[in-house]
Amino acid sequence: MNDDAPRIHLGSLLRSPGETSASGEVQELHYQQGNRKQTLHFAEPAPYGIDVSSLEGNELWLQGYFEPVLEQECSRCLRPVTVPLDLKLGTLVQYRPNVQEPFLEEADSGEELLVFGNPDLDLSGYLAEMTMLSAPLSVLHAPECKGLCQVCGHDLNEGPCEHSAAVPIEPERSTELGEPEGAQHARQNPFAALQALKLPLPED
Ligand SMILES: [Zn+2]
Ligand SMILES: [Zn+2]
Repeated sequence: MNDDAPRIHLGSLLRSPGETSASGEVQELHYQQGNRKQTLHFAEPAPYGIDVSSLEGNELWLQGYFEPVLEQECSRCLRPVTVPLDLKLGTLVQYRPNVQEPFLEEADSGEELLVFGNPDLDLSGYLAEMTMLSAPLSVLHAPECKGLCQVCGHDLNEGPCEHSAAVPIEPERSTELGEPEGAQHARQNPFAALQALKLPLPED
């Protein structure tokens, strides 16, 4: 548990129907994934606003917004790129008293369902998951980014190096003309996107 976690208090809502809300800012989110503690860090404090209202029985409806700014890397030249996201939230929520950590599952309807057991609901995991679902797999710092020299690693945006005349920057390109840049890049190195998105690192 951490005191800066985004929380919403649902105790009174579980006792009598109504609506409640919470808002604030988070610089990072700490949450569990499997048995591992994860941290998702943002470039600046990310504002959120959440409203929860009663539905039938033990179900609630959560809606709101979350506006994190991610720190990713240009997938060609690796320079830092900030990626602002504007998430609209709308999720069915279900109270199950025995549940320890809140988690997302797929409801019978196919919708996402946020399940929780502690009426003092920690939204960290939920917001982190929503963020990662919306994050672009790869970003470019500029559409015309020239990337790095494959021989010496020189940033070709800053001018040519001694290899740029002799070595094609991306030889694959000649055989795959006409494909969207993004798709092409993803196939060259499927892990580049994962590296570019600074996914949460395990905490010690
Ligand atoms: Zn770049
Ligand atoms: Zn070079």
